[in-house]
Amino acid sequence: DKDAANGEKETLIMATNAEFPPYEYHEGQNIVGIDAEIGAAIAEKLGYNFQIDDMAFDSIIPAVTSGKASFGMAGMTVTPDRLESVDFSDSYATGIQVVIVKEDSTITSVDDLLKEGAKHSVGVQTGTTGDIYASDDIEGKGLGTIERYNKGADAVQSLATGKIDCVIIDKEPAKAFVEANQGLKILDTEYAVEDYAICFAKDSELTEKVNGALKELVADGTVQKIIDKYIKA
Ligand code: GLN
Repeated sequence: DKDAANGEKETLIMATNAEFPPYEYHEGQNIVGIDAEIGAAIAEKLGYNFQIDDMAFDSIIPAVTSGKASFGMAGMTVTPDRLESVDFSDSYATGIQVVIVKEDSTITSVDDLLKEGAKHSVGVQTGTTGDIYASDDIEGKGLGTIERYNKGADAVQSLATGKIDCVIIDKEPAKAFVEANQGLKILDTEYAVEDYAICFAKDSELTEKVNGALKELVADGTVQKIIDKYIKA
């Protein structure tokens, strides 16, 4: 039952990494963004209080599986590996992995990173799908090295100061980070297209409830309204 014995509402705790604009980021003392607002709308619809716990991206799944958090929502891509430790909700957004380079970079397409003889240093955020792709396709094939950062913004900072050659990261944060730095651009070719979803402890009864709430929030236009607030067409 969602109501505790004392009549107070139970709290849904959302684990996230609030370094990922426009999905979750700090605005003053608050954590705002698409996921923060959709998470809050889901909690409200299901009759829970709502709390966001900010942590490193690669701590989110452990927080969920250990029960410290009710769910994880962090522009998180559904992957076969993650499905071994958590369940995912229906997807609520599409994510695209892109490559950020300096405006004058010799890297002009994703192909330049993957072709024989390539030797680039690639920045990623630890534990993200960008990290997984770069580890498998680039480092794993001897086509370059990887620098891992706790925050995407730090990877982009490193690129801006010339310490690395590119950053592989999700498109919407990439747009925000490129806007905040001079002399950077996003390659036209995309690295991968992915589905974002909310993760839960395996067999949690919350998954079905959240899917139900999510469906209603999509149907009544709430989800699109939140997305449109943060992503200008
Ligand atoms: N979509 C990417 C992933 O799931 C990055 C998410 C993030 O950095 N918040 O790995």
